[in-house]
Formats: sequence, C-alpha cells, structure tokens
Amino acid sequence: MFNRSRRNLARWFTLSMGCILILFAGVIYNLEVKDKLKALDQLLYKRAELMAASSQYRLYQGQKEVDLSNIPLLGSGSHPADIELVYVRWYDPYGKLKRFFGTPPPEELEIASEFLTIKSVDQFTGKTLWLRQVTLPVQGGNSIIGYLQVAIPLTETQNELREFQLILTLAVPVALGLIGLTGWVLSGIAMQPVQLAYNQLQRFTSDASHELRSPLSAILTNAQVGLLMSADHPQIHPSVENIIDSAKSMSTLVNNLLLLARHQGKLTPESLKKVNLNSLLENLAIYYNNVAAKASIELIGHLPEQPIELWADPDLLRLAVENLLNNACNYTPSGGTVWLRLEPHPDRAVIQVIDTGIGIPEADLPYIFDRFYRVDTERARESGGFGLGLAIAQQIVQAHGGHIHVMSHEGQGSTFQIKLPLRSYS
Ligand code: ADP
Repeated sequence: MFNRSRRNLARWFTLSMGCILILFAGVIYNLEVKDKLKALDQLLYKRAELMAASSQYRLYQGQKEVDLSNIPLLGSGSHPADIELVYVRWYDPYGKLKRFFGTPPPEELEIASEFLTIKSVDQFTGKTLWLRQVTLPVQGGNSIIGYLQVAIPLTETQNELREFQLILTLAVPVALGLIGLTGWVLSGIAMQPVQLAYNQLQRFTSDASHELRSPLSAILTNAQVGLLMSADHPQIHPSVENIIDSAKSMSTLVNNLLLLARHQGKLTPESLKKVNLNSLLENLAIYYNNVAAKASIELIGHLPEQPIELWADPDLLRLAVENLLNNACNYTPSGGTVWLRLEPHPDRAVIQVIDTGIGIPEADLPYIFDRFYRVDTERARESGGFGLGLAIAQQIVQAHGGHIHVMSHEGQGSTFQIKLPLRSYS
C-alpha cells in the first residue's frame, strides 16, 4: 500500500517536473534561435553597410549617376570581399535591378521587410539552402540612390542550432531520470511519518484486540454458565442469551480486527506452505454444500483435473475463500445457485465465487472492500456481518501478491474473482 502511494507520488512528481523541464527547454531553445538570428542580422547589416559605403554618385544633367565599381563583388575593378555571400544585388531607387552577383534575382525589387529568411536552391549542388537576406536603402545626399540587397547562408547557424538541439535532447532524459530518482527519494521521506502513524495505529488495534479477547471470553463463559444455572428462572433466559450472542459477535469482530492488524503487507516465509488449491477448494465445496443446502441453494464446484499448487498460507487462503462463500450463501435467496470455480493459467490461478443472488448496486462497488463498509445496514444486519469479510479477503489476497476483483449486477448476482500468482518462494 505504501509502496504504491510512494510510486504514485514519485510518478506525479516526475511527470509535473518533466512537463516544466520540457517547457523550459522549449523556451531556452527559442531564445537561443532568436539570439543567434539577432547576432547574424547584426553581422549581415554591418557587411551590407560597409559595401554600401563603397558606392559613389555624381550629378549628371541634374540626375544622380551611381558608380558601383568599388562595391565588393558588384564592381568590375573590385575583388571579392566576402566569399560567404550568396548574392549581392543593386536596385535603383525605383526598384529596377541594375547589377548583381550570385543567384539570378527578380527584375523588380520586393521589399517586404528589412531582414528576411528565404528558402533557395544551391545553384551548384541543387540542394535546398536557407538564406538570411538584408535589403538596405542607400542614401546619397538627402535622397535614396539605390537599394543594396545581400544574403548569406544560414547553414552555420542551422548547424549550431542542431547541435544545441541535440544537447537538449540528450540532457532532458538525463534530467528526467535524475528528477525521477529525486522524486523516489523525496516520496520515501514524505511517506515515513504516514507509515509510522499507520504502524502505530495497526499496533494499537492489534494490542487492543488482543487485550479484549480475554475479558470477552470470560463474559462468554460466565454467561454460558449463568444460562445453565438459571434453569429455574426461565424469565432471565432471553437476557442471558442476549449477552451470549453479543459476546460471540464481539469476539468475531475482535478476531477479525486482530487478523487485519496482524496480516498487513507481506507474509513471513515461515507461514508459507505448498498448497494444493484443488483439495483446499474441494474441502470448502463439500462443507459449503451443506451450508447452501440448508438455505435451499445449490452449490456447484468446478475444479480442474490438473492439480494447481502454489506457495501460500493455507489457513489465510481458506479464510479468504470462506468469506466469499459465506457472502454468496448469505446474499443469495433460496432457489439460487452458487459456483466455486478454479481455473488454471500458465502463471496464475484464478478462483471464482459466482452467485445468482441479490447483487451489489453499482454505486457501492468501489467501496465494498473498505473496512466496515456495508451496502445497506438492513440486509447486513440480517446476515450478521460487520463489513470486514471482504476487507479481510482482499488483504489476504494482496499479501499473497494477488488481486481480488468483483463484477455485480443488482438483482442478478455477483462474481468475485481472486487471481493468485504461481511463483515459487524457494
Ligand atoms: P459482511 O460481513 O457485512 O457481509 P463484507 O465485507 O463481507 O461484509 O461485505 C461487504 C458488503 O458487500 C456487504 O454488506 C454486502 O452487502 C455486500 N456483499 C458482499 N458479497 C456480496 C454478494 N455475494 N452478494 C451481494 N452483496 C454482497
């Protein structure tokens, strides 16, 4: 029980921290992309500005004539200033292409924005190439003498970002692993006081039940003696019988509580024996055949030929099935049928107690294994139960590493199923 809670705590911790971590990694990656692009834009702008500074103009017949001969890559006399540039283009103030270097440009200038990321095709390799382009208006005097458009490949930036992405992809699972480990340790620490309080409560229940057993049996014995001795006073018989009934019922309750308090969690290896499930269930079927017959119920046993053996505490296992059979007989009206089945599976044994009784309302199904839970006190009072039978059965099955499950339809009947692992305890 505590391990399950601890696992759940650790799981939720890891999940929530994992979500925050992934979100955080996403934000960091986006900031890195923006940062890299900003640095690239600054570099590109500086280069474009330097190139634009090499342009000259003179006034000829009232018109500005632009001299591009000194602009690196564009000018005839100039030498390439930067082999990284994919293209350089010069447009006149009206957006008409005047000169270019590199990839053939459109004839008309399209200025959507100063900086642009463009998808292009490498003219030599034919591969897709991502470019960052800047379009710079070049001033001459107080008017624009043209537009310089320059682009550089994004390959290096993309490679750097890919490397960063790889680092993040490797770092996130490692961090998640560490978070999971931390979560496991922290949830262990968080569970300690709960476990301590629970153990104290269990010890108290166990001690109190144990202490109550002796006075209860004293009351029972004395009341039985009193009943024998009061043969001449029949008027006090009902009161003494009442005391006997109450003492018996209290004794059952105390024994059940003691059982629940003592057999919490795993079983001790000394209590485990090799149990033949077929013969254990066959004995129970014979005994409950008589119980059922008294209530005019038919009990049918379906046990396989092939023997099914497992390591278990035979007394506890018998008690778990007895509780289910008691309920099946108690909550099945006369004329009904109860089946006790055993199914072999490669890795587990499945025991089923099926009845055609009154069934359990759907709303009560999630709670019927809780201690002291009774579907409705009226029908439970008739059966004399305290609402502990199923809690005990569940605790026993879980202590054996198994699982108990119920399916029921009100007015139609119920099926209780116990699955027990067939592992060896050697
Ligand atoms: P009790 O000892 O009071 O029967 P249990 O823990 O064995 O307590 O059962 C809890 C409740 O589940 C009971 O009050 C009963 O109403 C319901 N219940 C258990 N088994 C059956 C069954 N086979 N058919 C109908 N109701 C059942």
